[in-house]
Amino acid sequence: MTTHRVHNFGAGPSTLPLPVLEEVRDELVDYRGSGMSLLEMSHRGDHYDAVHTEAMRLAREVFALPDDFDVLFLQGGATLQFSMVPANLLTDGASAAIVRTGSWSRKALADARAYGDTYVAWDGANGQFTRTPTDDELQLRPDTRYLHVCSNETIEGLRFPEFPDAGVPLVADMSSDIATRELPWERFDVVYGGAQKNLGPAGMAVVFLRRATLGTMRQDQGAYLRYGIHADKDSLYNTPPVFSIWVTGKVLRWIRDSGGLKAMTAAAERRAGTVYEAIDSSDGFYRCPVEPHSRSLTNVVFQLPDTEAEAAFLDAAREQQFVGLRGHRSVGGCRASLYNAMPQDGADALATFMDDFRRRAS
Ligand SMILES: *Cc1c(COP(=O)(O)O)cnc(C)c1O
Repeated sequence: MTTHRVHNFGAGPSTLPLPVLEEVRDELVDYRGSGMSLLEMSHRGDHYDAVHTEAMRLAREVFALPDDFDVLFLQGGATLQFSMVPANLLTDGASAAIVRTGSWSRKALADARAYGDTYVAWDGANGQFTRTPTDDELQLRPDTRYLHVCSNETIEGLRFPEFPDAGVPLVADMSSDIATRELPWERFDVVYGGAQKNLGPAGMAVVFLRRATLGTMRQDQGAYLRYGIHADKDSLYNTPPVFSIWVTGKVLRWIRDSGGLKAMTAAAERRAGTVYEAIDSSDGFYRCPVEPHSRSLTNVVFQLPDTEAEAAFLDAAREQQFVGLRGHRSVGGCRASLYNAMPQDGADALATFMDDFRRRAS
């Protein structure tokens, strides 16, 4: 039986590798002869323990994580990290610097303010969020504990082509480009991302944490909010998000077996290049508002001449089984999300469709 699959350009939750979905289907009801689903078992039993340990090991391997970092699998998505980061790192007398590049860093900023002294190190709002800053443009105070960046702004479609080298530890929200690029780990204290874009089902954040920071963290929080508790218990302090961890482990194995992060970067550049080419060769029919050096590889945003043309484009796209192309409701326009599990075929088909639609419309 061939499975019916559309071209899913949704921003998240989003497309997953088909072999992973098929494996989950095959294992779902009777997990390895146990007579139970993994979803029905104790998270303290041998079956789940093996799944958990393997997912953590694969995360270390795929991300080439240095030994002095911990991996945490936490609930609450990336959004809870907007609170957990300052709740743990933002000690008395220190401040948090935030680079405001779009909607998600704006949310990180708002939550950090609830925990302590927080300021904007660079603000892209005046430029309508169309680029990332250079290192020289960052304005950092001497008491800065960390600089928070959103490596890829999912809604505005821009990314840091290089991570800042700012002389203070970085914290990165990588929700929408995690596992699409290698990382200069020496610059980071914390890297986090929701699973539902490049790694697996919703309901979890993967957090990478420099272990030495645990000794300096605030303790004035309830248990779940303290990184130290999760690090001590290998993310088994309470019932973990079993389904999300199980599938994420399979996606990590798929990434590794597909050539790892280097291969993911090459595939992301090629996919995005295909769609940007359709935009740039359209004589202005499609427009990408983001400056070329900051364009996202995972969320390609574009506009058509007017909202009527956009509505017609989205309707025609849906008829051809291209789904999820509507831009975020806060900014309008169109957006093609091209995460790791999007095959090059999907980007090729979209570019062809865009060319055809433009010819018919003009
Ligand atoms: C999707 C997204 C989030 C929010 O993730 P949740 O898991 O829904 O909390 C945060 N930051 C970025 C950059 C995102 O793309």
